[in-house]
Amino acid sequence: MHDLLHHTAQLAQAYLDTLPQRSVVPNSTALDALSRLRTPLPDHPTHPNTVIDLLDGIGSPATVATTGGRYFGFVTGGTLPASLAANWLATTWDQNAALSVMSPIAATLEEVTLGWLVDLFGLPSGTGGGFVTGATMANFSGLAAARHRLLQQQGWDVEANGLFGAPPLTVVVGEEVHVSLLKALQLLGFGRERVVRVPVDNQGRMRPAALPPLDERTILCIQAGNVNTGAFDPAPALVEAAQASGAWVHVDGAFGLWAGAVPSRRHLLAGYTEANSWATDAHKWLNVPYDCGIVLVRDPHSLRGAMSATPAAYLAEYEPREPYHYTPEMSRRARGIEVWAALQALGRQGLANMIERNCQQAQQLAEGLAARGYSILNEVVINQVLVSFGSAEATERVINNLQREGIAWAGGTVWQGQRAMRISVSSWATTDADIEQTIAALDHLAQQVAL
Ligand SMILES: *Cc1c(COP(=O)(O)O)cnc(C)c1O
Repeated sequence: MHDLLHHTAQLAQAYLDTLPQRSVVPNSTALDALSRLRTPLPDHPTHPNTVIDLLDGIGSPATVATTGGRYFGFVTGGTLPASLAANWLATTWDQNAALSVMSPIAATLEEVTLGWLVDLFGLPSGTGGGFVTGATMANFSGLAAARHRLLQQQGWDVEANGLFGAPPLTVVVGEEVHVSLLKALQLLGFGRERVVRVPVDNQGRMRPAALPPLDERTILCIQAGNVNTGAFDPAPALVEAAQASGAWVHVDGAFGLWAGAVPSRRHLLAGYTEANSWATDAHKWLNVPYDCGIVLVRDPHSLRGAMSATPAAYLAEYEPREPYHYTPEMSRRARGIEVWAALQALGRQGLANMIERNCQQAQQLAEGLAARGYSILNEVVINQVLVSFGSAEATERVINNLQREGIAWAGGTVWQGQRAMRISVSSWATTDADIEQTIAALDHLAQQVAL
């Protein structure tokens, strides 16, 4: 083991050392070499060192450098040093986070970390939650808690009896709802299309005046951080209306909730903290390794009622928190460890600095591109920038050429009918020099396209 782990650590360090210079995307040689892995299952053992050398030799060059400083695709964080190292150690421990008896350390760090997150986001004390794979499953879990509670209030036990014959619930979403929330609705039996869609403004924010009537059989889904613009739904008005009617409010805050970590941006979360459930990601803006999402629920009993594998009646109130009562999974890896490591390493101040730095860098990008004559299509409120390089065709070609050249990486989107490049600044590793280099590269590509 000793040799193997030291050797692997050296390969990992060598990979990290290449990140500032290497292309963000793999070259064609690296992609062609992948075919060397398409072999039949070996009949005989391979020495572990040889396995790792094969993996590094073919695998490392065929990665996308998402953990470097110039990957701006989707909403993608890198890996903080403390989280990467904690991930190694936790994998060495190989803990099953399902039960406290299986891993006291995993159960303890989940509890500690959930408490820290509730504090950071300014959520009500007593809020509980669970660690899941990402915001999709966090949305799923929050909505399952909502389904449990609202149907229980109607005298219906959905966990026992399912949705056939249940009193109908209405799900209200914004026109700009993230596709993962619709996927969660599809998995929960609500139906992806069986929703009421509320019109939005030019930043993708729900219009409160267009809200349909809400009642105690309604789940209102709002968004902290639109995946294109970064915009926040006007939560104060929306949540007030929902609470007056007894509706459940679920927040998709996959990356936007982290704005609450910065004192000067905390106003963005006004109203959100009054909701009933929240979904967020740690593998995006907190910069922990994949995969890691978190569901938070104001009334943890609702989440437990939805997720518990044993009828709640048998569970004594004084029991310690058992992680598997709050997640769809039973056995699972101990994700809370990396989240704890990230927060312990950064501290409140370090986290605020990291989030704020990315917001400033997004602003720097937007201003740099605007100064060179390109159109910024959104109000840059946090870390998302939408840019057009002229016509849809020109923008498309700049996106394709950027992705091919590999100096940086950003994807495309269509924002309210207009083709745009979507830039998300979400990595601890991004430097101001990375931003300047990206602005220069984009300007160069856009000028080539214009010729
Ligand atoms: C990324 C994202 C999701 C889905 O998160 P996963 O971690 O990919 O499951 C949901 N909502 C929003 C707003 C997102 O940005």
